[in-house]
Amino acid sequence: MSCELHICAACAQEDKTCCQTCEVYATPADVQRIAQYTGEADFTEFVVPGAPVYYQFADDPIWKEAVFCDDGSRRILKRKENGDCRYLGSHGCQLPTEVRPLVCRLYPFDFNEQGIYDKLAKGCPTHLLRSGQTLLQALDMNREKAECWHAQLYREVRQEPAYLAKQATHPETVGS
Ligand code: SF4
Ligand code: SF4
Repeated sequence: MSCELHICAACAQEDKTCCQTCEVYATPADVQRIAQYTGEADFTEFVVPGAPVYYQFADDPIWKEAVFCDDGSRRILKRKENGDCRYLGSHGCQLPTEVRPLVCRLYPFDFNEQGIYDKLAKGCPTHLLRSGQTLLQALDMNREKAECWHAQLYREVRQEPAYLAKQATHPETVGS
């Protein structure tokens, strides 16, 4: 089946979307941007990942060192009781693009610190694409934009307070 709806709207009609199933890591700067936009203060929590996919950082040591605390948790957006992202509204994300967490902006690009992978993440329903349309076209995304966000993400990851503290006290044990 192809569709005339935006692919994310069609996706929502078919099954749970990424905004209903994903645990969304927020950088310290994401938190600042969201707080400034929404006026909220208490919208994140530290949680140990609920699925193995969030532990796939064998090729990304900085992600493990900077994003994860010693107890294995990391900062994510709080979710509604039904599991939806707190910022998911009836017409999609209620945050403007420039305020959304960087990992949301990048999805479905998959990446490590070195860069963006050639293959996209598998979560989007590509069977809903119109004939001849690519997923990136349907999502109005392009690699150039994603590369800017990717660079910004890793700059911001390096500003995690616990990581900065580790660097200050044990610079020999953490990456640069
Ligand atoms: S980005 Fe992909 S998984 Fe998320 S709502 Fe859109 S189509 Fe669905
Ligand atoms: S912040 Fe927006 S894009 Fe990200 S998961 Fe929540 S609703 Fe979806």
